[in-house]
Amino acid sequence: MPELVDWTDRRGFDSYRASQLAGWFYNRPLTAVDDMHNLPLDLRQALAEDFDVTLPERADCRESSDGTRKLLVGLSDGARVESVLIPRGERLTLCLSTQVGCGMGCTFCATARMGLMRNLEPDEIIGQVLLAREVAGPQPVTNYVFMGMGEPLANYERLVAAIGLMTARWGLGVSPRRITVSTVGLVPALKRLVTDTNVNVAVSLNATRDELRDDIMPVNRRYPIAELLEACRQLDLPRRKRVTFEYVMLAGVNDSDEDADRLVSLFASMAVKLNLIPFNPFEGSLFEAPAPERVDAFQRRMLDRGLHTTVRVSRGRDIAAACGQLAAAGS
Ligand code: SAH
Repeated sequence: MPELVDWTDRRGFDSYRASQLAGWFYNRPLTAVDDMHNLPLDLRQALAEDFDVTLPERADCRESSDGTRKLLVGLSDGARVESVLIPRGERLTLCLSTQVGCGMGCTFCATARMGLMRNLEPDEIIGQVLLAREVAGPQPVTNYVFMGMGEPLANYERLVAAIGLMTARWGLGVSPRRITVSTVGLVPALKRLVTDTNVNVAVSLNATRDELRDDIMPVNRRYPIAELLEACRQLDLPRRKRVTFEYVMLAGVNDSDEDADRLVSLFASMAVKLNLIPFNPFEGSLFEAPAPERVDAFQRRMLDRGLHTTVRVSRGRDIAAACGQLAAAGS
């Protein structure tokens, strides 16, 4: 909005036009400036010169047998990212991408194989939201998770700009409580995020020993487990708000009883939520999913010791839309 006010000033239009424009940009399906028929012609001409109001292209949309929809989003330079719409009862969660590919190199994730191609611009992040809303039709999107392609905190400024547009009243008007940013644990950016926004944070831990985490998540060599957890402990979160930790379970690698016990002691002095994600395989992946009984036993062991632990039911596996399966190149 401040930018729109600047723009109307610069172009010599009344500043009340800025809120009219925001209404058009963020609340209605719009494909051309000429659709904005309540605006005078000279304003529409100026807009057409200075703005591109088209949404990213819906290159493909696949629906899973469980109702999950994966959108392949075509960007103006031909790059593609994926967004996923996940229905669950009254909820409709939208999983958003922040980068084309990813530079974090986690060995269990399909997106890592693409390497980092580029960061998404704020309007490309918002474009995913507008496109997904169109696909969702009358059902409102209730939750937004930055858990798609890319490491959100490695694209910090643009992520925060997009969150600003999503949460502004004149923008998409989404409550920050309905937005979650998931990160591998880039410590300095994580601290900033909690100061700069009110969104929820999720941290992908995935291992209980540095030796293993170094191996499967190279970022651990920069921010090892103790440093990451200490930073999380000190995050200035509102009372009653907890950090969620995600833990991808890899059969025979990080799913032993000892791992469960180590998780309990790592979180001994913290109020956290732990979300277990049984590994989702993809073509050429090096790991295997644990048996359902192992997942149950692992969860039970932690619940018995008082750790709030849930299991993420994988959705959209049949269309490669589940966690860690997003890789737009070949899909
Ligand atoms: N880069 C951010 C956002 C991606 S979120 C992050 O890592 O948090 C994706 C979540 O899915 C992360 O918790 C990640 O650890 C997990 N994940 C990655 N590959 C997976 C796979 N093959 N199966 C299950 N979960 C996976």
